[in-house]
Amino acid sequence: MTTNEIILELRDVHKEYATGDTVVRALDGVSLTVRRGEFVAIMGQSGSGKSTLMNIIGCLDRPTSGSYTVLGQEAARLSPDELAALRRETFGFVFQRYNLLATATAGENVEIPSVYAGLPKHKRSAHARGLLERLGLGDRTGHRPAELSGGQQQRVAIARALVNDPPVILADEPTGALDTKSGEEVLALLKKLHAEGRTIVLITHAENVASHASRVVHIQDGKILSDSGAPEPGAAPSAIERHDYSGGAPFFASVQEALLTAWRSLQVNIFRTVLTLLGIIIGVAAVVAMLAVGEGSRQKVLDRISSFGTNLILIRPGAAGIRNAGDIVTLVPEDAAAIKTIPNVETALPERSGRITARYGNIDYQTTIQGTGADFPSARDWPVGEGQFFNDDDLKQYAPVVVLGKTVAKTLFTDGRSPVGKYVLVKNVPFLVIGVMSEKGAAPNGNDQDDVLFTPITTGLVRLFGKSYLGSITIKVADATQIEATQDQVETILKARHRTEDFSVRNMASILQAAMETQDTFTLLLGTVAAISLLVGGIGVMNIMLVSVVERTREIGIRMATGARMRDILLQFNIEAAVVCAAGGVLGILLGMGAGFALRYSGMTVIFSPTPALLAFACASATGLVFGYLPARKAARLDPVVALASE
Ligand code: ADP
Ligand code: MG
Repeated sequence: MTTNEIILELRDVHKEYATGDTVVRALDGVSLTVRRGEFVAIMGQSGSGKSTLMNIIGCLDRPTSGSYTVLGQEAARLSPDELAALRRETFGFVFQRYNLLATATAGENVEIPSVYAGLPKHKRSAHARGLLERLGLGDRTGHRPAELSGGQQQRVAIARALVNDPPVILADEPTGALDTKSGEEVLALLKKLHAEGRTIVLITHAENVASHASRVVHIQDGKILSDSGAPEPGAAPSAIERHDYSGGAPFFASVQEALLTAWRSLQVNIFRTVLTLLGIIIGVAAVVAMLAVGEGSRQKVLDRISSFGTNLILIRPGAAGIRNAGDIVTLVPEDAAAIKTIPNVETALPERSGRITARYGNIDYQTTIQGTGADFPSARDWPVGEGQFFNDDDLKQYAPVVVLGKTVAKTLFTDGRSPVGKYVLVKNVPFLVIGVMSEKGAAPNGNDQDDVLFTPITTGLVRLFGKSYLGSITIKVADATQIEATQDQVETILKARHRTEDFSVRNMASILQAAMETQDTFTLLLGTVAAISLLVGGIGVMNIMLVSVVERTREIGIRMATGARMRDILLQFNIEAAVVCAAGGVLGILLGMGAGFALRYSGMTVIFSPTPALLAFACASATGLVFGYLPARKAARLDPVVALASE
């Protein structure tokens, strides 16, 4: 590499803007050659085409016609990524209006080009700090642009232009917005950079500024008027450490940077973000809370059913198509006896229950009496606590005996003495208490299972219910794995006995199954609600991201001008959407759990499980990715000059 090497060459470059039906010729056949180490000032009045020329030189814009080569490469033939690489590594751009990111600190602003170049974080910040110190801003690293003077901001911008150590500095009226003193400082800085071996192209409309340059090119109405030419050889190219930037930032570094930016823009607009996210928050919260309630009710149903026993078959009078089960008089104790002959049937309990008033002494108590068989304690796994249960002889003899549930015993016998051997009046008939059941406790649904009396079914039918038919038959099978086959046999026997199917047979497994199916329908419903609210939430996110792209067009322009590839911008906005939605997911989970705990406090069974929460969270994040894509693509496709020009 020689000092006389041509690094920029424009040949007959035209740039035309079509506004309405008039065509503005911003550049009208410009040819210009810049060699390494030159300090060129381009001078002209406002509107003469200087910025247009500079944007083409800096690969922010493309000429309408003509050729432009950078380091021997024809710019028109470079891909967007290769152009981004040129902006990142070959050029350092200094703008009249500084073009710093308002939400980033001075240090972070300086770092941006090196982020896209893929420099690791610690090197980046050290390098940025070093540059800021060199430019006299060492104590301003953590300040945001609004906290800096114009001259300081421009020095930050120069530090940013230098951070990737580019051979060419392009400065478009860098002193235009500065007071004389700051302007001179900036010019002195540019001269120093030139002395270090950098090529400088400076745009100005002021004679005194141009006088600092070694070559002055005058431009008017898009044409070069004069060129002082005769470049004097500059100093040797700088020997500052060169980094290998070939591929741009690695994926992981880009993601890291995008996460940071996402977090920042989320903070800047926290209220709006939360409002946008309401759909997602409510959706996720609904899923978490409702599924917890659903799981709770499912568990309750399961508990109730399995506390009943999975080896039980239940027969009730009436079947589908028979209007009133109460009218069915065919289910009788003899049916139970017949069923008992099936080998796998351990017991078959003929049962009927009714509401009665029990009296002992002067205490009246409304409760339930259940007529059943002698095998009840073993069939239901419910032993007698005191005394004994009635036996088959009692059944045969229609014995007027009762066994008390614990609650009934406690209510009627308040003096603490044993009820066994006493008589209680049931429907004004004296019944001998022969036993008290052990305590069973509350059923999962809250019913007190001990609030009952038991009497032989025969006695019950004749003396209490005045009916000859049963309310149900409960069958306990010996081998639960054979329950389906046994159930078929039961049906065959009953059909033969009744000559019609006027009964229903169900086992606990099938009841369990039905309960599960109901539960599944419920879950599906919840899932649909959640999906709809996530969809609505996603549209909200897309909307806000589109607004965000419009609002931040200038930021996108700055990032592109300092070397971001389309991929980097795409990634940034996509990750922002995903982060925002993930945050919504987290808030939704918290809200849902809060609601769940509130419901639990109010007495509901609520069981939280991690799967729906994780699923909802994943859905929310995915929503962000899907709905963030369109705005992100819009951002990435922006033209750097257009984006930079936006207010
Ligand atoms: P300078 O920087 O020398 O003041 P510019 O290069 O910005 O001048 O503009 C040169 C000419 O091109 C001006 O007449 C300006 O109005 C026109 N121009 C610049 N940018 C656009 C654009 N995006 N659309 C239409 N006309 C433009
Ligand atoms: Mg201009």
